Amino acid sequence: MSTVFPPPQPVLLPVADREDRFPVRRVYCVGRNYADHAIEMGHDPSREAPFFFQKNPDNLLFGNDKFPYPPLSEDVHHEIEMAIALKAGGADIGLEDAMACVYGYAVAIDFTRRDRQAEAKAAGRPWEIAKAFEHSAPISPILPVETVGHPSSGRIWLNVNGVIKQDGNLDQMIWKVPEIIAELSRLFVLAPGDVILTGTPAGVGAVHRGDRINCGIDGITTLSLSVV
Ligand code: MN
Repeated sequence: MSTVFPPPQPVLLPVADREDRFPVRRVYCVGRNYADHAIEMGHDPSREAPFFFQKNPDNLLFGNDKFPYPPLSEDVHHEIEMAIALKAGGADIGLEDAMACVYGYAVAIDFTRRDRQAEAKAAGRPWEIAKAFEHSAPISPILPVETVGHPSSGRIWLNVNGVIKQDGNLDQMIWKVPEIIAELSRLFVLAPGDVILTGTPAGVGAVHRGDRINCGIDGITTLSLSVV
């Protein structure tokens, strides 16, 4: 069968120390999953549960340590997040079955056009312009569960030009990994290849061209990039 143009190439994430790549199907993100970040954004985590939004698979940036500053924003923020990579899925996954769906974990950044997001919030509009722009999700190689287990605590941190900006712990997540998978699978049918960014701790802030960002999650790996 021929196609009217060459089909888009699949997004194939590297897996640490393995030849096999991880083919990405969808990218989901959790919003306000750390109480101190919800508070810094002006929300009350005791009254509003975390929620979901999406990025596009081809927004993932990997194998390249240069993040191109996006157009049409003057206020692009860093958000360090743990990413979950799924090897299995389904609908209405129970809490007791959720962890068996996980292939591995990675370190990611949910870059956000904060000015465009504020406009969208004020106008009651969707968030794609703020969240799903080109290269908006740098991600490390995936560390398989056999290598790193299921990290439920550990420092999650990010510095800009050597100055620490975000310094939290995975144990501060409001929805834990099995709860995220269970909740998401009530809304969407999950499948192998889905990647879930699990939210960011406090300390988000603007980046500028020329900045060097180093970040990581203790027990998983680190990620470094330059803003260009
Ligand atoms: Mn985020």
